[in-house]
Amino acid sequence: MADKPKLGLERPVVSLVGVGPRLAEKLARIGVNTVGDILCLLPQRYEDRTQIRSLGSLRPGEKALIEAKVELAEVAFRRRRSLLVRLADGSGALTLRFFHFSRAQQQTLARGVCLRCYGEVRAGATGIEMIHPEYSVVAADTPAAENTLTPVYPATEGLHQQRLRRLVDQVFERLEDEPLSDLLGEFLPSSGPDINEALQFLHRPPRGTEIDALATGRHPCQRRVALEELIAHRLSLRRSAAEQHRERAFAIPRDAAALNRLREALPFALTSGQEKALAEILQDLSAASPMHRLLQGDVGSGKTVVAAFAVLLAAASGYQAAVMAPTELLAEQHHATLRGWLEPLGIGVASLSGSMGAQARAGVLGALATGDVQVIVGTHALFQEAVSFSRLALVIVDEQHRFGVHQRLSLMRKGQKQRHTPHQLIMTATPIPRTLAMTAYADLDYSVIDSLPAGRKPVATVVMPERRRSEIVARISGHCASGQQVYWVCPLVEGSELIESSAALELAQELAEALPDVAVAAIHGRMKSADKERVMAAFKGGRIHVLVATTVIEVGVDVPNATLMIVENSERMGLAQLHQLRGRVGRGHAASSCVLLYKPPLNAIARERLEVLRRTNDGFKVAEKDLELRGPGEVLGTRQTGVLELRVADLVRDADLLPDVIRISEQIIERHPERIETLLRRWIRSGVEYAKV
Ligand code: ADP
Ligand code: MG
Repeated sequence: MADKPKLGLERPVVSLVGVGPRLAEKLARIGVNTVGDILCLLPQRYEDRTQIRSLGSLRPGEKALIEAKVELAEVAFRRRRSLLVRLADGSGALTLRFFHFSRAQQQTLARGVCLRCYGEVRAGATGIEMIHPEYSVVAADTPAAENTLTPVYPATEGLHQQRLRRLVDQVFERLEDEPLSDLLGEFLPSSGPDINEALQFLHRPPRGTEIDALATGRHPCQRRVALEELIAHRLSLRRSAAEQHRERAFAIPRDAAALNRLREALPFALTSGQEKALAEILQDLSAASPMHRLLQGDVGSGKTVVAAFAVLLAAASGYQAAVMAPTELLAEQHHATLRGWLEPLGIGVASLSGSMGAQARAGVLGALATGDVQVIVGTHALFQEAVSFSRLALVIVDEQHRFGVHQRLSLMRKGQKQRHTPHQLIMTATPIPRTLAMTAYADLDYSVIDSLPAGRKPVATVVMPERRRSEIVARISGHCASGQQVYWVCPLVEGSELIESSAALELAQELAEALPDVAVAAIHGRMKSADKERVMAAFKGGRIHVLVATTVIEVGVDVPNATLMIVENSERMGLAQLHQLRGRVGRGHAASSCVLLYKPPLNAIARERLEVLRRTNDGFKVAEKDLELRGPGEVLGTRQTGVLELRVADLVRDADLLPDVIRISEQIIERHPERIETLLRRWIRSGVEYAKV
């Protein structure tokens, strides 16, 4: 041990033999900066070169290592000029086929030469063959077959597998004297592998290991490593939560008189779910450290009014509050709603949007800076540099999944300029299974509105092929004659707002012709915001009966009298998106329905999606299914893809590990806080630079 240098897993890769700056740069591209990172770079797949297979035993489709003699080599000119090399080993024959070959190759591959090849076996015209296999001539010093499965690491240009494998060997050689400390052993059944065994196994699975068992990602060694990685992530987020907690915030006292004034003005009483969430929020606001709270509630559960109470308290204490929405349409709606609730209580509510005139904008900006405006509602325009606040104490982010991490961050910084971090309430209608939220959002506290306002009836959902559209059109007149309203959602055209918008106009035209006694209008992404607002106001006011819309209405729009929704091409949309869309109806007392039209044939996943929606209205059930069908990157939005960078674990595949992740993380915090640093160094990329979002 004395004669070997200490391994130093945290040292840069250049400290390994044979790694210079050029190689280090290539390694950095696949996320390998330190010696330890090499251990965490697990193979993407494996190849079995542990046994030399007899030609007679090969089946098309498998990859295999073979050794056989060249019987015949010839250049054929059938469709393409190609070099055909006929091999035999006594048990059978196989042809190698090369479309590109050099004269030197041609000379090497001569009759009588013994070759070792690795490649995929295919069915050819004259028996089995391999196209452009890896091959070498067998010589006296050719070693026997490999002892372990051959790992295939994530590739980057100019970095050969062979090179990576040698680096891994180098690290393991040193690891023999200085194994990784096993930080989780006492929390796990003793029968499982420890971290060293698991890593060793995954980099070099011994001969006989089933490739298929590894391909599932659920081998005990993979699970052991994934568990540790997930724990490291949770600990890292918990730590950043603790740091945030040390920042200063304006304490917003619980002003019972102000709260009561709004309660009395509302036409409804809060549900028990809303009351519970509100109590948690008020508790946080009254502290002098910033709130970081995620408020989840299914579509229509009434998150806006809960936020309004928080906004009210901030303003009543002389501070400012900002409410951010992902679309102008939603921002405008929040503006109107909050004005309706707060202005009668003497609190002014302003709005700021990208499409405002310069003068109006300057007016609002000035009033924000002096503190004359207490409540501001807007889109990402609120993040622009020119916006400064006088006493920003609270930020509400609605429909968080639509915002990028960076947008949220930059608003936070605005508050921090004044050495006070605003309290943050992040609202989302994309329910995330609890254990997943506790892992991916471990830096946030978490409230759920778990009940819907009384009297809501579930939306009856039917799924129909589009050829039955005319039946739906026929139903609309009656529906509108009874005073109710309709959304008709146009197909989603990814990447073309123009096509999407013109489809909406065409459809509106078509419906207007078919239904002369019904007022039809369209709303789409290419309209000016003032026009959108006008159409929305007319729809809300009941002057428009059928609103043909693109998915601009997906989030947040609230018109309780709309009770029928038709969605075109529903087979192209994601589950969460469809659930959001459907959430636009079923907001009042009347029974609502949703018709999901699709263009046959449905593939298996689309069929399953539509079936889930038909069966349940429960956003949490929808989300679990969504997670299963699409993966967490989509479900969690940018946050997952941008911040939680997992190397080994997969939040869907390893979802069943999450309860253990939470339990063990808490035990480590409690009993072994000294291990946290080591875990973070081992797993969190480059210096634990977690964004504080
Ligand atoms: P979401 O949680 O989807 O954002 P909203 O805040 O838009 O839901 O609320 C949906 C509708 O329910 C709104 O019209 C709102 O005024 C109404 N609402 C909210 N809370 C209650 C309640 N406790 N009782 C009855 N209606 C409510
Ligand atoms: Mg909402």
